[in-house]
Amino acid sequence: MNELKSIESQALQALESVTSIPELDQWKSTHLGKKSSLMGVLKGMKDATPEMRKEMGAEANRIKKGLGASWEKRRQEISEAEVNARLEKEWLDITLPLSHDEQGHLHPITRYSRKIEDIFTKMGFKVLEGPLVEDDWHNFEALNIPPEHPARDMQDTFFMTNGSLLRTHTSSVQIRTMEKIQPPFRGIAPGRVFRNEEVDACHDNTFYQVEGILIDKDISVANMKYFLRTMLREIFEKDVEVRLRHGYFPFVEPGFELDLRCLLCEGKGCPACKHVGWSELMGCGMVHPKVLEACNIDPEVWGGFAFGMGLNRLVMNHYDIDNIRHFVSGDLRFVQQLN
Ligand SMILES: [Zn+2]
Repeated sequence: MNELKSIESQALQALESVTSIPELDQWKSTHLGKKSSLMGVLKGMKDATPEMRKEMGAEANRIKKGLGASWEKRRQEISEAEVNARLEKEWLDITLPLSHDEQGHLHPITRYSRKIEDIFTKMGFKVLEGPLVEDDWHNFEALNIPPEHPARDMQDTFFMTNGSLLRTHTSSVQIRTMEKIQPPFRGIAPGRVFRNEEVDACHDNTFYQVEGILIDKDISVANMKYFLRTMLREIFEKDVEVRLRHGYFPFVEPGFELDLRCLLCEGKGCPACKHVGWSELMGCGMVHPKVLEACNIDPEVWGGFAFGMGLNRLVMNHYDIDNIRHFVSGDLRFVQQLN
């Protein structure tokens, strides 16, 4: 009986220093498990007299129950303490005002697009919008790109099973506008376009363009150059030098490539301009008479210019960014640098 009492007090004493659930499990196996001293005593009773067995059995059961209850009580205490510790650690005051350290900001493409919209709005241009999913007429045919034209190559266009396609340029928006509005008018169409491109550092299958069109009487290449240079001067916030080279686009005649004197090396040659001192920036030209005719505008009376440029390329030029894939990667480290 004395041994039983001592087993009980030792177990209770040991329980007091238990502070975690794993320790508690260990305690249970030590003091109530099959190999515990208590079980040992119970097993040893087979040599005792029936009277003693009865008395000791009752006492051992009382201790076993008591220790079980103590174990349960301690388990609850520990769980509660763990929850309280977690609450204490995770406590926060939801009535405090928000921290302003991590405010969001516009994506560089959005910022440039809006900047260009502002510049052109001041020059009397309207901002035009159109659908991303286009039909053949607006994306190709009305732009003087007939069915057999190589510019419609399957490799470059995402076609839908119903014959629609993802617009490959925002020129489709210009057609939609010319169909609705009689000249004179001027507008720009910024937006997302899609090409079935092999993706690499210079090409992505989703990118951003801004295209512009001006239709009026007596418009010349000189007018076009003036507008484009004004725009670029405002975008880059300094005087810029541009040059026109002949370029072929089905929807303009004559067509040009507009190059910008490299802003990083000022023409001396650097990796960004491939050491030529100029960087290709956009395509432009005088709107093709066939395009005007497709929109029921008389090319004998009206004429104008159109231009289109990649917004990604423009932002890359300005910040010396070497990989176009950064723009839609969703990597915050990239956009935060350009805040
Ligand atoms: Zn350069």
